[in-house]
Amino acid sequence: MKWIQKPGPSYAALPSVAVASSFQIGWRYRGRTPSFFTIQTVTGRRGEDESVPFSEEALVYAKQHWGAQLIEDTWKDFLEIILEDPQTGVAKSSLYVGLNCLASELFAGTTLGVPTQRLDEAAMVVTHDAVVAAEYKGRRGSYALYACGICGGAFSNTRCRRCNARRGQVLLSPARSVELSPRLLRLVGA
Ligand SMILES: [Zn+2]
Repeated sequence: MKWIQKPGPSYAALPSVAVASSFQIGWRYRGRTPSFFTIQTVTGRRGEDESVPFSEEALVYAKQHWGAQLIEDTWKDFLEIILEDPQTGVAKSSLYVGLNCLASELFAGTTLGVPTQRLDEAAMVVTHDAVVAAEYKGRRGSYALYACGICGGAFSNTRCRRCNARRGQVLLSPARSVELSPRLLRLVGA
């Protein structure tokens, strides 16, 4: 099978809004500088962002104009928490988290869901802004957890354990669920 592909690059670097040594790529993909990968021991691949057009200009612009508010990327892994409608299983919104451990370590030994305190202690940066989230993510993979879109509670197979809303569409096991801490709930305005 031959895939149809656009000729040449159809993207360019844009200044980052949150993370230092980082740039946006066409507001859809996010890159890191090669030097970032030589100084960090985070998950992610290196070398693929070196040829993005205007990346040097984007880095200089962000540093000059709002450099003081850019933060260094020191988190190990990235996680999306999807707040879903219990009835339909449809995502209502998301929280995005930079972790001080691998996402897989959060699940170690859990069957009923990730303990709230374990997630809260691991969360170094949290946002509900998709543009900022993409900078937090960089080129890491993304692991997803689920919580109730009504109250932020964790799910059993049949209900939200917090507000008791019945699950109409059981798409995922309770092991992938988490109850949001008050700190994370405040971030989504709950
Ligand atoms: Zn609920």
